[in-house]
This record gives sequence, C-alpha cells and structure tokens, in this order.
Amino acid sequence: MPEYTWVIEAPFDYYFGAFLNLSCSLPCEYCVQKITLPNQPIAHYPLISGKEWVESLNSITGRTKKRFLRYPKRKKISITGGEPSLHPDFMYILNNLDKDWKITVTSNFTSPFFNRDVKFLKQIKRRRSIKFNASYHFMYADIDKFIENVKKMKKAGFFVHSIFLVAHPAHMKEIEEYKNRLLKIHKIVKLQRFFGRHEDDLYPVEDAYDVVCEQEDGIRNYEAYREGFNQSGKKDIYCRMKKVLFAPNGDIYNCHYKLYTGHKEKFGNILDPSTKAQGPSRANEVRRGMDKDLRIVMPQDFFLCHDYGFCNPCDSEGHAFKDLEGREFNIGQESRLRGG
Ligand code: SF4
Ligand code: SF4
Repeated sequence: MPEYTWVIEAPFDYYFGAFLNLSCSLPCEYCVQKITLPNQPIAHYPLISGKEWVESLNSITGRTKKRFLRYPKRKKISITGGEPSLHPDFMYILNNLDKDWKITVTSNFTSPFFNRDVKFLKQIKRRRSIKFNASYHFMYADIDKFIENVKKMKKAGFFVHSIFLVAHPAHMKEIEEYKNRLLKIHKIVKLQRFFGRHEDDLYPVEDAYDVVCEQEDGIRNYEAYREGFNQSGKKDIYCRMKKVLFAPNGDIYNCHYKLYTGHKEKFGNILDPSTKAQGPSRANEVRRGMDKDLRIVMPQDFFLCHDYGFCNPCDSEGHAFKDLEGREFNIGQESRLRGG
C-alpha cells in the first residue's frame, strides 16, 4: 500500500470516473472521444497497472457518508474507457477495489474479455456489488454475439442495469428494430441521442427525432450547446464542473475534453504526489501534509477556462457557465439566461 492517503476535496456527490484506457475494441466513428478530431488529437496515455489503480484509488479517503439508521452511503465510481475490459488487469481492478467503492462498469460487451465463457467471467469475485451498463453499436458489432454476452454475464450472476443504443439520425429505423430485439432479452434498453456531426449539423439539434430518447443528456439550450461544443473556436468562459476524472496514466482532470486531449490543465497525478497541479486556480495544488495526507482541492465554484468552444458532450448535462460579464447560463435550460 502507498505510504500516504489521498484527500480529494470535493463534495460527496461529485462524479468520479476512472478511464482505464482510451483504446477500444470497436471503431465507432461517432465516439465522443473523436469529436475534437482533427483539430485536437486524442491523447495517448501510457497505462498504469491494476495494482497502481487499486492502491491509489483505495487510498482516497472519505468514501463513505453516514446516514441516520441506514448503512453508510458508498462513493460511486464509474470504470470506463474506451473499452475498460481491454486493460490487461481489468479483472484484478474489479476484484481489488475495496468495498467503499460502489462500482459501475460501462462496456460494449463485445471485447475479447466478454467473449470468454461463464466460468471465466465468474472469476470476478464481487458479483453483487458491481453494476454493468452495456452499449450496443450495431454498425460495428454483431447483435447475436452481443446478446450471447449479455446472457452470459447474467448467467454468471452479474447485475446488468441498462443497455444503451446511440440514436444515430441516419439509422433510426434499424435502431428501433435493434431496440425491440434487445428488449426481448433485457427490460431496460435506452436510446441515447447522437452527439457530433451529421450532414454538417452538430447534433443533438432541436426537433430532429421522432423517437423518445430515454437517456437524459441534459441539452435544452441548443444555442449555447452549438457555441460551446462546436469544436471550431475557443474563447474564455467561467465553467463549473462537478467531476473528478482519472486518465489512463493517473492524471486527474475535471473535464472530459481536457482528459481526452491530454490538456496541460490537470490536477496532478494520483501516482505522483509531488506533482504540482496545473489547474486553473492556485488553490488547486497537491500539497504534502505533515500527516502524510495528500490533498487536492477540486474547484467547487466557477473557474476560468480558455477552451470554451471545445467542450465535450460528455460534459453537457445540466452544465452551468458564466460569461466574462458575469451572466450565467445553463446548457440544460431552454433559454439562455444572460441576466442583467
Ligand atoms: S464502443 Fe464506445 S468507447 Fe468504443 S469506440 Fe464505440 S463509442 Fe467509443
Ligand atoms: S469550459 Fe468546456 S473545456 Fe473548459 S473546463 Fe468547462 S467543459 Fe471543459
């Protein structure tokens, strides 16, 4: 175990995500990671080992919250990627993150890991305390194989919560058919709106769908969405984020765009306590305490960002911004509230 503990100063409800790797077993052209291409390439991170993930994440303090007459609440963490099961120590990580983590794994369920048999999958020990969400990408993955793998995971005793399908505007008829087919083997199948460019428009757009997309993406203010997420020009803005994201090499971010592109504005590295954070505020420095605690202060209010315009749709949901004149607006609210 490391000789220190990490204090990540952030409210308990902040989203924590561990990106084990950014590579994937599928080549989806609409992947959110690729949205910034070709202007900003995707970062290539060296991978850290399963042991390093486990030791560093288990050393984060404050992962339970007391509740009156109930079991303490555990800190949620999303294990994601790319395709997280491509990490060579994927199973080790799931088996060794401690019980104070409440884990959700997001996977395409078609990587070589999920093609193994039930006996192999049962080697994931903590079957009851992990939730899996599966995404099906019909243009790139065989439906029969996907269904077989979902069934195997259930047979092995795992909780598969939702299956997601991207509602690509050019393929809505097929997507409805795949959804109906998947509903025969699983009761929660959700359509997600398509993010990115299709026929020169940045999606999602107003009134583009005649189907209900069950997965909430929180985009209601399309004018602000097109300004902030269009990948065509950058400007300064005040941004408020409620995320702690760990890149495949342990770098710490609070923004998907910055993680996907290996931006210099990070909050240190979970394996390198001596790293000075390059974050947007001087307060966001890793400090070595006298008691061997290492502390990162994540911003809890608006902070200045120079990259507005390149925001990633993964950060769209209910996202609040403030322009340099102090007027707040929110991607999740229909009209742009620039008060004053
Ligand atoms: S399966 Fe998911 S992570 Fe992999 S390329 Fe497709 S959208 Fe991206
Ligand atoms: S303004 Fe956009 S790019 Fe900058 S931190 Fe916020 S979400 Fe990320």
